[in-house]
Amino acid sequence: MLVISSASSPVLPISAAGAVSAGAVLTIDLSALRANYRRLCREAGGARVAGVVKADAYGLGAERVAPALWSEGCRSFFVAHLSEALALRPALPSEAEIFVLNGLAPGDERRCAEAHVTPVINSGTQLSAWGALAQTLGRPLPAALQVDSGMARLGLAPEEVAAIAADPAHLAGVDVTLVMSHLACADEPEHPANRAQLEAFKALAARLPEARRSLANSAGVFLGPDFHFDLCRPGIALYGGQPFEGPENPMRAVARLDARVIQIREVPAGAGVGYGWSLVTPGAMRLATIGIGYADGWPRSLSNRLGAYHGGQPLGAAGRVSMDSVILDIGSAALKPGDLVELIGPHQSLGEVAATAGTIPYEILTALGQRFERRYAEGALA
Ligand SMILES: *Cc1c(COP(=O)(O)O)cnc(C)c1O
Repeated sequence: MLVISSASSPVLPISAAGAVSAGAVLTIDLSALRANYRRLCREAGGARVAGVVKADAYGLGAERVAPALWSEGCRSFFVAHLSEALALRPALPSEAEIFVLNGLAPGDERRCAEAHVTPVINSGTQLSAWGALAQTLGRPLPAALQVDSGMARLGLAPEEVAAIAADPAHLAGVDVTLVMSHLACADEPEHPANRAQLEAFKALAARLPEARRSLANSAGVFLGPDFHFDLCRPGIALYGGQPFEGPENPMRAVARLDARVIQIREVPAGAGVGYGWSLVTPGAMRLATIGIGYADGWPRSLSNRLGAYHGGQPLGAAGRVSMDSVILDIGSAALKPGDLVELIGPHQSLGEVAATAGTIPYEILTALGQRFERRYAEGALA
């Protein structure tokens, strides 16, 4: 059975008759999300699998995604900012662990402790601030320690790890529940950085207190058991993104994007189409203008390059992507205002859209706008 529920959107006015038609519809298949979680659990063997739900679950809605993962047995969740953790807390049972990857900003310690959120400590300064609060409160505070195993982005430097190992007083008041690091090149399985980071992580973690260990993101889960440790941290693979290079995507699509036709027109040869007249019609054309633009995260770099599909029939891009609209060359397609055309779906995958735009699926998903109607539908994309 197909169950559809619409999330209430803060920006769409709701009339007595229901939601006003949005320019585009984002459909999110929570059963595909759950299937992807189970698939990653199988791949991870005996390791537990967390859910990375930062950036509003990669644009798909953390308030809906996180409870769906919880229902599959997921108990650990990662966001980037404390503000995201505070927003997520009420959506999950209190036993859920919520980690803040970007660590503790100065002054945020108390809010973090009060909300039962676990910071990922990335520097000696953050560690002392967290320890000092623990002393003040008179109770130990949980923390993840991130070590920089070779990405130079976030995490304790090897010297800081050595200082902590030399003097355990640095850890006073801090209950280390996880030791983690992050892989820079996991989507290229043959890249020598993977082994190098694995060895560096093991050596650094050995100098820190006994705790669960975590290294693998989505791509890392597919690098094999050496990379799994106790907890894996996939994000993009949960949402249907292909976790590593190769012809086959082992994950199921979770998101589908359709935009509404606003207007259809027939133009003669020699008509300038869209901003800059980047297309001048070589002959008579039928065009459809659809209600999505770069303000909705549809990349302007797709101008004249990537169109849409209607019932399996390709519709070409015509002219530049505008802020709120895109023009399509629809030929003889049977389309009328109000109809939906497929932008991301079975005929035009997320990976293809990203590649044509010169970017990665992560950027496409996380940029998808707030103006869409969002439909959470079980099995809609099966
Ligand atoms: C974003 C992030 C992840 C998830 O990465 P994916 O490639 O989306 O699986 C895991 N760990 C850290 C530290 C991250 O920043």
